[in-house]
Amino acid sequence: RGGQAQREIPFAQAGNLTKVYAIASGKGGVGKSSVTVNLALALAAQGRRVGIVDADIYGHSVPAMLGLADTRPTQVDDLIMPVPTASGVSVISIGMLKPRRDQVVAWRGPMLDRALVQMLADVFWGDIDDLLIDLPPGTGDMAISLGQHLPGAEFVVVTTPQEAAAEVAERAGTMASMMHQRVVGVVENMAYLPCPHCTEEGKEHRLEVFGSGGGERVARTLSQRFGHDVPLLGSIPLDLSLREGGDAGKPIVESDPTSPAAKVLQDIARHL
Ligand code: ADP
Repeated sequence: RGGQAQREIPFAQAGNLTKVYAIASGKGGVGKSSVTVNLALALAAQGRRVGIVDADIYGHSVPAMLGLADTRPTQVDDLIMPVPTASGVSVISIGMLKPRRDQVVAWRGPMLDRALVQMLADVFWGDIDDLLIDLPPGTGDMAISLGQHLPGAEFVVVTTPQEAAAEVAERAGTMASMMHQRVVGVVENMAYLPCPHCTEEGKEHRLEVFGSGGGERVARTLSQRFGHDVPLLGSIPLDLSLREGGDAGKPIVESDPTSPAAKVLQDIARHL
């Protein structure tokens, strides 16, 4: 839009009623995108109008997890229409801004900043109750841009129980607070594997594949560091159907809503 004034970000304006949550993690592969899509669908199932911004420049796996991998947004005048899921969640992904899906992007800070502003301001979001932003892992340029453009965004930090993961997750949470953003809580993912053989005998034995305590540790550290309660919102077990649901484009809160993992996600969504 050469020469035209930049459109304002609706969520940054006075009187904005949309809750904006950034889903952050210290490192990749801990389940940040899985948590984002499942929380979005759980919120939608509770009757809320929900949008997702997939800002994970390295991963941008949100469309595939929702069965929208080959869907491109349409444009009406100079507004981008987000892609709707079957359950009515509006989705835009940084991957959708590229001419081709397989294209490798080597964007630097200013381009990431422009991409984020475009996804927030040039997309027709309508009246949504919640906007979930899937951030790239770590404490990079995208998180800084978000802090500058949407200081009111609240953070949900995702970690695994592992010591090393918890340590980098604490840094991601600290980054949010340096930008004066609030961390609403911590989600521990891949918390344990319910041993399938033991459950067959009517008892539950938990295999702590990635150790234990990471979620509690991040919650405690961030609470101490910032002087307000940063709770552990929930611990999601390892679940085959969570991975399968993500691969098949039908996340677990829809494909297997009564599973223990889906129940934790629904519970977290209720308390957001
Ligand atoms: P991130 O966004 O942090 O990189 P993803 O959400 O893409 O992580 O998850 C990485 C992989 O792990 C995906 O294949 C996903 O399906 C799988 N996964 C995530 N959480 C779980 C879980 N609780 N149980 C089983 N598989 C999981």
